Amino acid sequence: MHEYSIAIGIIDTLKDVLKEEFLCLNKIELTVGSLSGVYFEALHSALELILESEGLDNVTINISEEKGLFICSECQKATEIEPPLFICKECGSSRGKISGGKKIIIKAVEVNDGKI
Ligand SMILES: [Zn+2]
Repeated sequence: MHEYSIAIGIIDTLKDVLKEEFLCLNKIELTVGSLSGVYFEALHSALELILESEGLDNVTINISEEKGLFICSECQKATEIEPPLFICKECGSSRGKISGGKKIIIKAVEVNDGKI
């Protein structure tokens, strides 16, 4: 399952960045592109599973979607892509380029500072 290896990559990145604060992790916010081929639910449960194995079972995981845009070469408009259709929503043309929607971004993390 490729969501699982993506989740491992995310957790490894967080460990690198947060160091010992990783164990105080409270919340993760991710942005996942609509064209990244990632199933949000699968990624969510993979992250939960890995965090639990690290002893972190109360981390809030928020995943938001970044829509890919189709930049039309006919009418120059940028419209949201809804796979499997890669066409301009304005004029229906299939001539154009794709912008965004492919990346997985760690947008924000929150750690407990030890105080309650
Ligand atoms: Zn168009």
